Amino acid sequence: MNLMNQMDPQSKQPPEQRDHPAHLYLVQLDPQSVVDGVRYDDTYLADEIRTCGTMRETCPVCGDGHLQLVLRQKNVRVPHLFCLECTRCFGAFLEDGTPALIE
Ligand SMILES: [Zn+2]
Repeated sequence: MNLMNQMDPQSKQPPEQRDHPAHLYLVQLDPQSVVDGVRYDDTYLADEIRTCGTMRETCPVCGDGHLQLVLRQKNVRVPHLFCLECTRCFGAFLEDGTPALIE
């Protein structure tokens, strides 16, 4: 899990921070491929999914709110980022293409 050293939800970073943390590339994932849930007409619902923190990144699709970090757990097969606003799931990759969410 090498993402933890890139986020610190408790502290506000100064805008002119000297070292920019690595940029994450976000790729939208099919919720059915990452979460065990039930598909209804136009939504996909899963129970008891626990988010593990709020990311610096905002949703690239709706642009609202910050993405939530979701790690592997009972109903989650693949760790991913989740947008509470539009309920999309995203995978995160580093600039060189390696997955950022590795356990
Ligand atoms: Zn969104």
